[in-house]
Amino acid sequence: MSDCIFCKIVEKDIPATIVYEDDEMLCFKDIQPAAPVHLLLIPKVHFDSLAHAAPEHEALLGRMMLKVPEIARSAGLSNGFKTQINTGKGGGQEVFHLHIHLLGTPV
Ligand code: 5GP
Ligand code: ZN
Repeated sequence: MSDCIFCKIVEKDIPATIVYEDDEMLCFKDIQPAAPVHLLLIPKVHFDSLAHAAPEHEALLGRMMLKVPEIARSAGLSNGFKTQINTGKGGGQEVFHLHIHLLGTPV
């Protein structure tokens, strides 16, 4: 998606502070953090939101969910963390490339 800001981050066309990357997902710092640690985990493949997820994304979404606590531990969130997925305008979504917010305070 040429006009998608998160696809541009995947393509390294715009900068981001990347904390984790593999073949199918990318995690980077939110540009306007709402907590001491505020990360966004995204699939490299573009789909707009959780409401646009298809059966072909099932395994990828599972691997992303399992990656969240691993990234949280690496970020020092050993006491716990919050996750949030905003879906659609009514759900507060502003960037229409699926992303998982990961928020917390290192201990
Ligand atoms: P949403 O409201 O769609 O769930 O969250 C989008 C998030 O993306 C917001 O927390 C916002 O601060 C973050 N964001 C928007 N544009 C950029 C950007 O260019 N770079 C980074 N790192 N985060 C962004
Ligand atoms: Zn995208």
